Amino acid sequence: MPKWFVALFAFLFGAAVGSFVNVCIYRLPRKLSIVKPPSHCPHCGTTLTAFDLVPLLSYLWLGGKCRYCKTPISPRYFLVELLTAMLFVAAVDRYSLSLEAVLVSISLAALVVIAFVDWEFFLVPDEAVWALGILGFFKHVILISNPHGILISLGGAVLGGTVIWLIGILGRLVFRKEAMGFGDVKIAAAVGAHLGATWLMLPFLLFSIFVGAVMGVLLALLQRRSLTGYIPFGPAMAIAATIVFLAPPSVINFVLQLYGISR
Ligand SMILES: [Zn+2]
Repeated sequence: MPKWFVALFAFLFGAAVGSFVNVCIYRLPRKLSIVKPPSHCPHCGTTLTAFDLVPLLSYLWLGGKCRYCKTPISPRYFLVELLTAMLFVAAVDRYSLSLEAVLVSISLAALVVIAFVDWEFFLVPDEAVWALGILGFFKHVILISNPHGILISLGGAVLGGTVIWLIGILGRLVFRKEAMGFGDVKIAAAVGAHLGATWLMLPFLLFSIFVGAVMGVLLALLQRRSLTGYIPFGPAMAIAATIVFLAPPSVINFVLQLYGISR
């Protein structure tokens, strides 16, 4: 199959999944069912038709407005569909057309849900965390030909959760305020189920701290939130996990070698 065809298929599939990601971002933190009722305009309540729900295109041809009440639709809907589509293309580029690419793609979609919900609501949706963790577990049991796959995956979940939990305790002692929430522990455990109790946890933690610090400084510069205030560590971990899932092995090995670890 030509590479461009695989990429196009991944893009279209990713955009469709991105549509569902948008539903999850809106409904999970509001404790609404993600299957019913069917999609409707949150402003006028009109049930949307297939014409209004074509990923990416509907937003463009409706000019970013509800077709019925003309209320502007957040550009986030378009951006999330585009982002998910691009992540799916990146996943088939990294893992080619394989079951692993599918598992990683859906995991990346779960990370998008986690990042956006945590960013906006400061809470971590359990459904998305469970989906992420279970997909990581399956990856080890089905795809990675190691008889101890189950233990490696469960060990990774325990390791990831424990490290973030300990960093949280340390942060509380040093800064005398809540540094990590339990939501952060859950995200780290779910990512850990993917990475396993392996050295891959190191680049994940390093990237998380780096991305978190960069986001904290940017937010302070933009004066959206003070530097001493809340740093969105959940979104930082989601971005770090995305990088580790998609980075070529050479990049990961380079980071490990900086710490004297060779695989
Ligand atoms: Zn409307």
